[in-house]
Amino acid sequence: MPTLRPNHAEAIQASTAERRDPAPLRLFVTRMAALIASSRSERRILEGGSDLLAALIERDDWLPEAYARPHPERYQQYLLHCDSRERFSVVSFVWGPGQATPIHNHRIWGLVGILRGAERVESFRNGPSGLAPDGPPRIMKAGEVDAVSPLIGDIHRVTNAFHDRVSVSIHVYGANIGAVERSIFDEDGGRRPFVSGYVDSPLPNIWQPVPGRNRG
Ligand code: FE
Repeated sequence: MPTLRPNHAEAIQASTAERRDPAPLRLFVTRMAALIASSRSERRILEGGSDLLAALIERDDWLPEAYARPHPERYQQYLLHCDSRERFSVVSFVWGPGQATPIHNHRIWGLVGILRGAERVESFRNGPSGLAPDGPPRIMKAGEVDAVSPLIGDIHRVTNAFHDRVSVSIHVYGANIGAVERSIFDEDGGRRPFVSGYVDSPLPNIWQPVPGRNRG
């Protein structure tokens, strides 16, 4: 049986990656922009945005490989799109095996949709006696969508539920999340400022026409 030479295997992998058409991401971005232009109600944005995000993560054939790449030591936060008025941003989060975020808040609404793998979510409340769990930990699987906001619960820690594979989720937030001044919390109630930024990388070109394919 013939074996693929490494360079041949890499070429096949590269051509597969190139075929990933980000049209579903473009559709999501344009529909999110229309939703946000049509309503200032956070509840309506979360409801409508959940449906749009669920449709986006229903299939796992559009995210370019460069935005699903894990780091050996820490989770990655890749910017996929930022609205020109910073009304919302779309990010891919990539967790290597067992990797986790610190306990953190968001300060604005956000939606989390699992694209690949599974994530363990621990929610917290910050009361007069400090940080306390807000319900038991939950496991989110591929295809599921969750919401955060200061109104419905805003503090959590997210961990890759798998110890042997990468998990990827797609997030949308009501601001340019990488620039929002937020907080990281210690288990004992300590709190320090946090601005997440993004992994330094070019944005995916979602506006490039693909010959032979209709837009939409
Ligand atoms: Fe978060």
